[in-house]
Amino acid sequence: MAKSTQSGSGDRAGMASLSPFELKDELIKAAGGGAVERPANLSMLNAGRGNPNFLATIPRHGFWQLGLFAMRESERSFAYMPEGVGGFPMREGLEERFEIFARENKGVPGISFLLGAVSYVRDQLGLNAGDFLYEMCEGILGSNYPVPDRMLKLSEQIVAQYLRREMIGKHPFVGDFDVFAVEGGTAAMTYIFNTLRENFLISAGDTIALGTPIFTPYIEIPRLNDYKLNVVNLEADVANGWQFSKQELDKLRDPKVKAFFLVNPSNPPSVKMDTKSLEYIAEIVKERPDLIILTDDVYGTFADDFVSLFALCPQNTILVYSYSKYFGATGWRLGAIATHRENVLDKQLAALSKEKRAQLHTRYESITTEPDKLKFIDRLVADSRTVALNHTAGLSTPQQVQMALFSLFSLMDTPDAYKNALKRLIRSRKQALYREIGIAPEVKDENEVDYYAILDMEYLGERRHGRELVDWILENTEASEMLFRLAKEARVVLLPGRGFGTQHPSGRVSLANLNESDYVQIGRAIRKLMDEYIERYNKATGKKSGTAK
Ligand SMILES: *Cc1c(COP(=O)(O)O)cnc(C)c1O
Repeated sequence: MAKSTQSGSGDRAGMASLSPFELKDELIKAAGGGAVERPANLSMLNAGRGNPNFLATIPRHGFWQLGLFAMRESERSFAYMPEGVGGFPMREGLEERFEIFARENKGVPGISFLLGAVSYVRDQLGLNAGDFLYEMCEGILGSNYPVPDRMLKLSEQIVAQYLRREMIGKHPFVGDFDVFAVEGGTAAMTYIFNTLRENFLISAGDTIALGTPIFTPYIEIPRLNDYKLNVVNLEADVANGWQFSKQELDKLRDPKVKAFFLVNPSNPPSVKMDTKSLEYIAEIVKERPDLIILTDDVYGTFADDFVSLFALCPQNTILVYSYSKYFGATGWRLGAIATHRENVLDKQLAALSKEKRAQLHTRYESITTEPDKLKFIDRLVADSRTVALNHTAGLSTPQQVQMALFSLFSLMDTPDAYKNALKRLIRSRKQALYREIGIAPEVKDENEVDYYAILDMEYLGERRHGRELVDWILENTEASEMLFRLAKEARVVLLPGRGFGTQHPSGRVSLANLNESDYVQIGRAIRKLMDEYIERYNKATGKKSGTAK
């Protein structure tokens, strides 16, 4: 909901109440981009977007070739009808027909990936290759409702294996987990918040903890009338490499805190939680076995040796993953929710008062004969279609096919060639940006992910020019002035660095969505602005602070 403000004018009193996304719209207007983001507007450098400008080609080639094969299957299964009527693929002989198709199309992009995927599924995952091809062909044709509704069977096993590799890695992990395929990470959040509330696991007036700074929807949703939650912030500190101090984490010991929501690696700081903090939280959870953790690990695949809280506290944690960023697939709407088969959510459901259990019995009785035993994750599925429409729940099957192919692509890439290429890409952009600003990137912190960079003028300015200059800037300029001037004068759009509500001279630069030469330009614009501030400070105070080198 856009509040009306005068963009670019001197009056920015209204800006304080804007969310970062609303402020971004104002910045785009100031940069001459119009109210709606248009990537075609080439003269504007919009580094405010999280949407990557790269995408994974190989599993997409695989998708299209699989589609052609599935069409052949569909037309083969019916007597030829010139009106354009086809049928379902046939399970019998499917593998052999696929091999013929692959041989005929040898050398076509996507074919060798598909052949590799079929053998990976058979040899590494121990699944039946014919069943896999059948699920993929039926799925890509989209001719049946998604069954099972939570997720197609083999696709679930493939995605689970992918999540295991990327989110758990070498960390010990006992037992199995269920996966619900959803329309991206944002749908996951909507569904989870809703089901937690409908099932009395979190109610209005309850307290939750948020790891901040955080992706703003996590700040905005708990405030909504639907939820009315009290929020305790656990603040990661820039001076502490954006890690949480023990003192902050100790807030989780308060039994009033029912749940802890975090984004890891974080957005905007783009830093993964260090091992020390992960282990400290695991210690706290031993003391607080009832604590519900929701971890949004969308950026985990960009980190080095990532380990999710899901690996350390599997029974307490709801894992949210999205394919949007890593595969450059925001338009596909692909995400996953995972919960361990033994989890506190199901335990807490069983321990609800008789009255509440009776209410929930009624809520879910239309879909199962034993509603009391319905798992939390299956309640998510039912609630995602208002229970009554549960018979058509589930992610569209072509989406599940692309999700399975993305996962297989990553699983098969044992040298991590794709992952390393993406890391090289974003890190080289960061270097270009910092070089032009004139600040040496700090010694590489092993927890840095570099999907975003926060340019914190208070922190950087103090380290370069001392506290006095920073205090002067804070006192004599509007917090959003830097962002507006970058937008107006250099047509560079950044998102605010400190998220919601706080007024602070910092900006978030996405390193994922522009080309390296653009980051050079952004760096130059920032440097020019910094030099100018220093000049103004020198003039006003008669001091001589060096200009940015
Ligand atoms: C980009 C992003 C998402 C992605 O959501 P999708 O709906 O999958 O596109 C989720 N969480 C965070 C923290 C993000 O930055």
